[in-house]
Amino acid sequence: MNKLEHIGIAVRNLEESNRLFTRLLGVEPYKMETVEREGVRTSFFRVGDVKIELLESTRPGSAIDTFIEKRGEGIHHLAFDVHDVQQKIVEFTHDGFKVLTDKPLPGADNKVIAFLHPKSTNGVLVEICQDKD
Ligand code: ZN
Repeated sequence: MNKLEHIGIAVRNLEESNRLFTRLLGVEPYKMETVEREGVRTSFFRVGDVKIELLESTRPGSAIDTFIEKRGEGIHHLAFDVHDVQQKIVEFTHDGFKVLTDKPLPGADNKVIAFLHPKSTNGVLVEICQDKD
């Protein structure tokens, strides 16, 4: 892992939370983006070297919808920057972690990503990501 890239926070209402986090962090979101396949709408804030990603569900039954139904709003995942997501998927799988996909998926903010199941990481959903291109 190169660094903590962002922290994902599940929210019920992205507009309200954008206003809240703008007041809290003292910066406005630098982008908003919908990832249709995941049923999620996101916004991103920069705080020093780390980003905060707010995630709002766009449809019932999406991962974020299910998360909020079960656990309420709050921290959803930690995302770590890596050089090569595909290679890390293979390494982590060999090392006994439960990786949710065997191929990197397109994510928000110009990334390719994969997730490690929280059951294999002390209850923390871990995203690994690298810049697309
Ligand atoms: Zn993320």
